Amino acid sequence: MPKYIFCTGGVVSSVGKGVTAAAIGRILKARGLKVTLQKMDPYINVDPGTMSPYQHGEVYVTADGAETDLDLGHYERFVDIELTRASNFTTGQVYAEVISKERSGDYLGATIQMIPHITNEIKRRIVRASHVNGEDADIVIVEVGGTVGDIESLPFLEAIRQMRRDVGRENALYIHVTFLPYIAATGELKTKPTQHSVRELRGLGIQPRVIIARSDHPVTKEVSEKIALFSDVETRGVIPLVTTPHLYEVPLRLEEAGLGDYLAEALSLNVQAPDLSEWHDLLERIRSPKPKIRIAIVGKYTSLHDSYLSVRESIYHAAVANQHDVDVEWIYSGDLEKGKGWERLEGVAGVVVPGGFGYRGIEGKILAAQWARENQVPYLGLCLGMQVMCIEYARHVLGWDDANSTEFDNATQHPVIDLMPEQKELSDKGGTMRLGHYACQLVPDSHAHTAYQVGGLIYERHRHRWELNNQFREAFEEAGMCFSGLSPNGMLVEIAEIEDHPFMLGSQFHPEFQSRPNKAHPLFSAFIQAAVEHNKQTGQP
Ligand code: GLN
Repeated sequence: MPKYIFCTGGVVSSVGKGVTAAAIGRILKARGLKVTLQKMDPYINVDPGTMSPYQHGEVYVTADGAETDLDLGHYERFVDIELTRASNFTTGQVYAEVISKERSGDYLGATIQMIPHITNEIKRRIVRASHVNGEDADIVIVEVGGTVGDIESLPFLEAIRQMRRDVGRENALYIHVTFLPYIAATGELKTKPTQHSVRELRGLGIQPRVIIARSDHPVTKEVSEKIALFSDVETRGVIPLVTTPHLYEVPLRLEEAGLGDYLAEALSLNVQAPDLSEWHDLLERIRSPKPKIRIAIVGKYTSLHDSYLSVRESIYHAAVANQHDVDVEWIYSGDLEKGKGWERLEGVAGVVVPGGFGYRGIEGKILAAQWARENQVPYLGLCLGMQVMCIEYARHVLGWDDANSTEFDNATQHPVIDLMPEQKELSDKGGTMRLGHYACQLVPDSHAHTAYQVGGLIYERHRHRWELNNQFREAFEEAGMCFSGLSPNGMLVEIAEIEDHPFMLGSQFHPEFQSRPNKAHPLFSAFIQAAVEHNKQTGQP
């Protein structure tokens, strides 16, 4: 029988509720438990796939092809698990399901209401997430999106309140993640917003067992005791979580604060002593002094770093694995088009062009690819970044000035990137791309093959409609491009590389979704190795 931990947020958003939930997953996994996680999002979109990254940050893609909230990325990275589409749902999905059942007559005679119909559907989805590969998880950590007090999240809070009745009081508990503002004038941390937020939660029938008090300043014992007193939580249940220099420290901080033992006791979990040795080793590598490299991310949504969250983390994992610290230079590709920002490219050890949609900023990405190719600077293209690399090659090496993707120019004589045939008939935008993991066969004697160090198939996650146009494959190959990864039937180009270059590689898939803090992704790792080598050769510090 799975046990449930429900995480709510209080006071303000953006204090790292997702990271906290993920870190709790890690410390429980370290006790030998089978952990899974789920995020419930209160917005009405069916999924974040159609939302602007400025609204939502990155869209994280699961192996089974769901477009999900970026918190799933934190869950997978911290707990080192593979989640499925059951791990994320939205109000939109809940309503769509209930309304479709109503239309097909499933509830004939009934008035369809928030309680019980909507709340039952929410609970059904929570229970569904507890079954992982035909087995029950020991622990399901369910994060409620938004902040307590939002109108939109009320049905979720009501559903998790009911869940505790349904599964038994000893099998569920609530963790409230709040924030303590700091008043500089008096040098104090304030607990009042936390008190109010807990009161609001209790008004909805939810008594938290644990309060995680996020703060940018040290939290004294008096402050913890005050929160405990006003919230009717044991002092042991108040866990201060001061902003850490490194994201990956959070599990260790929670463990040191006694949260793992407290949860084990509160839920009567049958656990072994925690083994966080792997995580300690990781932190040692992260903290040790290392030389630094600079990597540019050239993209469209660079003003919101969360848009490229997994890309940034993957670069970081690979740098740590290669004993380096890394500074990311965020460059808006639209600036390059206007002749701006070029000085920030000077001296970078490598360039990453991440995924994206739409024409804005494309020409700047093409310029960045040209710059990396001509200056022999390592380049890693992710999805759109691969397409851009091929367009650049077609224009400047093959000499087809008008080469383009039909996403940006339908009339080009050289549509080197074109819609996949199965995409041509589709009119719906939501959930209709080529999504999730597909196999890829690596070609020997290539950077890709050397990086992965495997002979057979690899599996990587996808999210795209366009692909390299096979009509031009031969011309590209004759001009020095190598297609080093292909779909098993040979029909789709999955990886492209440039032969006359130390490392210029693009993948049609998104390797960033499979990188882990202690298992850097092979392609990112090979890219960072090449970047380090580039620095050596060019005499950069
Ligand atoms: N817009 C491109 C396509 O749909 C690339 C997508 C992406 O980078 N994820 O093929």
